Order: sequence, then C-alpha cells, then structure tokens
Amino acid sequence: MDKSILLSTPHMGDRELEFVKVAFDTNWIAPVGPHIDAFEQEFCQVTGAGHAAAVSSGTAALHLALQLVGVEYGDEVFCSTLTFAATANPITYLGAKPVFIDSDRNTWNMNSDLLREALLNRARIGKLPKAVVVVHLYGQSADIDPILEVCNHYEIPLIEDAAESLGATYKGRSPGTFGRIGIYSFNGNKIITTSGGGMLVSDEPQLVAKARFLATQARDPAPHYQHSQIGYNYRLSNVLAGIGRGQLRVLSDRVAARRRNFEIYASALGNLPGVEFMPEATFGRATRWLTCLTIDPEAFGADREQIRVALAEQQIEARPVWKPLHLQPVFAECECIGGAVAEDLFAHGLCLPSGSNLTIEDLERVIGAISVVHQKNSSNI
Ligand SMILES: *Cc1c(COP(=O)(O)O)cnc(C)c1O
Repeated sequence: MDKSILLSTPHMGDRELEFVKVAFDTNWIAPVGPHIDAFEQEFCQVTGAGHAAAVSSGTAALHLALQLVGVEYGDEVFCSTLTFAATANPITYLGAKPVFIDSDRNTWNMNSDLLREALLNRARIGKLPKAVVVVHLYGQSADIDPILEVCNHYEIPLIEDAAESLGATYKGRSPGTFGRIGIYSFNGNKIITTSGGGMLVSDEPQLVAKARFLATQARDPAPHYQHSQIGYNYRLSNVLAGIGRGQLRVLSDRVAARRRNFEIYASALGNLPGVEFMPEATFGRATRWLTCLTIDPEAFGADREQIRVALAEQQIEARPVWKPLHLQPVFAECECIGGAVAEDLFAHGLCLPSGSNLTIEDLERVIGAISVVHQKNSSNI
C-alpha cells in the first residue's frame, strides 16, 4: 500500500533538538524559563509585533485577548464565519455571543463592507459589539485597513486571529500586528509548530503583561499566593518554547515550500475545467499554508466530496474548506450577517495536502489522483 499523504504535518529544522537539550541540561522544564523569554523576543523580531506572550495554545491566546479587551457575559462579538471553531469558542467561554460575518470572494476573509454596514446598523440602535475578531484564513491576510478603519471609527477593539497566517504579509507587514491584539497558533498542523502552543501580541506592553498575569493563575505580588482575580494555567512550557525558537529560524523556508506546493498544484490542475484556486490578494503575500481550490461539479464532472473520497481511497488526506460557523449545530442560534459566500466556499472548496515536507513525488501522486477523477467522470458526460 502507498504511504499516506497527510494534509499538513510537523516539519522540524536542524536546531530544535539543540534548544530542547539546553532546556534539559539547565533543568528549565517548566512554564517559565529563558527559552520562553527568547522565543517571545525573537517572535517580535520576526513579525514586527511590539510585545508577545507565549501561551499553551492559540485558543488560550484568544480567550485571554477577548478578556483583555473587556468582553464579558452577555456581550456580543463580531467574528468571521468561515473559520475553525476555535476562533469563536472562547467568545462563549466568557458568556458572550458571537455574531458571524460573511467572507469576501476575493480574499475568502471577512467582508469589510458587510462589517461596516452591520456596525452602522448596530450604532443606530445603540447595540455595538464589544470586539471584532477577524481571521486570516489559510495563510492569507484579510483586507485589514478598511476593517481597522471602521473598528476605530466606533472605538471597537480589533482582535486578529492569525493562527493560520504566520509568515504572510499585508502591505509589507505581518497580519496579527495591526489590531489591538493578535494571536498565533503553533499547533501540530500549523506552518511552524511547538506540538501545541500559541502567542498573543500587542503594541501595548501593559496588555501583554496582563496576559502573562492571567496566564499564570493571576497571582498577586505576594509570597503567600494571593489572588484578587480568576486566572488560568495558560503559559507555554520552556521545553516547547525551545522547539519554537528552532522553528522560527526556518519559517521563511516553510513559507517558500508551501508556496512551491501551490505553484505545482496550480500549474498542473489550474487548467482543468471547473477548478479554481483560492485567489491571492494583491495587498500582500499569502503563505499558502493550505492549498485550497473550489470545484464546479458541472464543469469538472465530480464534486469536491467525490474527489475527497477518491483521494482518501489512495491514502491521501484532503479536507473540505471550513464549515462556516453559522452552519455549525453548536452556533445555530447565533446571528449571521450574510453567509452565502462562506456557504458556497464550503460547498465547493477542498484543501489539498500542503505540508512543507511533501516531496515532488507526493505532489504528483495527488495531482494524478485528481486528474483521474476528472478523466473518469468527464468521459461519462
Ligand atoms: C488552529 C486555529 C486556532 C486555534 O489554535 P490552537 O493552537 O489549536 O488552539 C484558532 N483559529 C484558527 C483559525 C485556527 O486555524
């Protein structure tokens, strides 16, 4: 049987073990230590963020971010609908309610016109949301400027979920560093990984200091463990921060490899009828964290699910584009502004194996399998 080709797997560089060994040799096996401090500083250098706090996951970073901008029980938070559930789950941890916003066709990310219109309507009735969470999906930045402008106009803090877009650019800068707070993820499937981990960034040092405080059980400065607030155990391990330091050093290689995957897929499959790749917006550079395409079943001869199943039969893992959150049973009661674009991208969209460690042979196997689905089905028409 052929070896399996997975969607996105960890890809270690040469230095990670060395950093981990330093942590062992110095016995910094704890959620504090020199690797954490260095990882935060190096992360700021790479992204241009002002300040950073390393935490146990991207989800934890979002939970802290929402709390730091003042989201409380009963509040509403506007949020992209086309994303992973982890974007919106922390809104509900705080007892707040997400209101979902549809995507823009050109970026697949939040439609700023819909956001502006929705905020205008809410301002009229005096029911503005407490925060906006914009997602930078699949390695591509959202069009941040118009989103930031309208958020600033209503003085609503913008939180950027850049979990999937470390290494991308928006007008030359890193998505995640424009809003009041940005978050990143180092889960095993992301462009770089610490096995699990996340980062919260902001230009406001007191916000990041507060994130560290909340992430370490909100201990007051007293020797006897005094607490005036509820805290969390959300800090990253110093051992994992060592992995992160090694991974940061190969980030640009990982971006190049994933973009290469995209180029190979696009040149081999881009001319098949009914195939369209996720567009790259002109305002920046996408990492192509995942290569995503949409399939028009009429033109192609098979739908995205038939392709996915045919690939799975050959041990190739492909996944549908995220099911929009407003279609998720758990968020069924939540309001959604628009939704048709995200629904269409879900109905037709497929993510191909995209790891930076895929070989040319792996990519050719995926391409061959998709071409066969097209040939088999188009000959029936
Ligand atoms: C992965 C991901 C997260 C969550 O990050 P974890 O580190 O897995 O908690 C949040 N948002 C998006 C869009 C993601 O893809």
